[in-house]
Amino acid sequence: MQVTEITARTALVRSKIPGVHYVINPYLGCGHGCRYCYAVFMRKYARHHARSAWGAFVEVKVNIAEVLRGELRRKRQRGRALLCSVCDPYQPVELKYRLTRQCLEILGEFGWEISILTRSPLVTRDLDLLTALGDVSVGLSIPTDDDRVRQVLEPNAPPIGARVAALQRLQQAGLSPWVFIAPMLPLNPQRLYDLLAPYVSRVMLDPLNYRGQVRALFKRQGWDYALTDAYAAETRANLERLFGNKVR
Ligand code: SF4
Repeated sequence: MQVTEITARTALVRSKIPGVHYVINPYLGCGHGCRYCYAVFMRKYARHHARSAWGAFVEVKVNIAEVLRGELRRKRQRGRALLCSVCDPYQPVELKYRLTRQCLEILGEFGWEISILTRSPLVTRDLDLLTALGDVSVGLSIPTDDDRVRQVLEPNAPPIGARVAALQRLQQAGLSPWVFIAPMLPLNPQRLYDLLAPYVSRVMLDPLNYRGQVRALFKRQGWDYALTDAYAAETRANLERLFGNKVR
């Protein structure tokens, strides 16, 4: 993993995501290296790693906390900020740099609402802070029940079992976590439901959107069936039936 420290000029980026006013990305690049990642296009904005493979580099915006503080001071209205939209806020480098934590602390100081979406149980490191913040929504991305699928498609992201354990800890801390089953990878709906249902208050679903990026890999694994619209529709229907009104 190539890690390079950079300085950021801005922290808050306006968002078109429903209910989210701004997104914050303390890192450019993502050590989880998901093979289907929608954020691969961000590589062209990398200052030092525009030719590196996605997942092999991270540019660390070491000053993002102070930039964020300055921007929040100048804002007339509070809003909701999401960490993150084009990286994972709790990817492995967060263990050392703690930039996500610093951003959360500052958002909390200014009374902003916060949404977090991650694939990593590292989020539970910040339980003390998360439980002290006012309006915070924490989601875990868990796109399959099958850790073999995870190993192929999300090679450096934490195992599914560790994410489920994180959900449990978040729930026990009173945070009502939610799950993003996205993209819907090869999965067994009943097994995924059994894993998640005890711990989640809300479920969101999304199909695999960038199929061309993983077509050859899926074929090699015998997962061609999961590249079709029919698979996406059937999987969605099964998960909606199982999770009922938890699906939004
Ligand atoms: S965790 Fe998210 S941002 Fe990181 S590689 Fe995976 S899909 Fe992309």
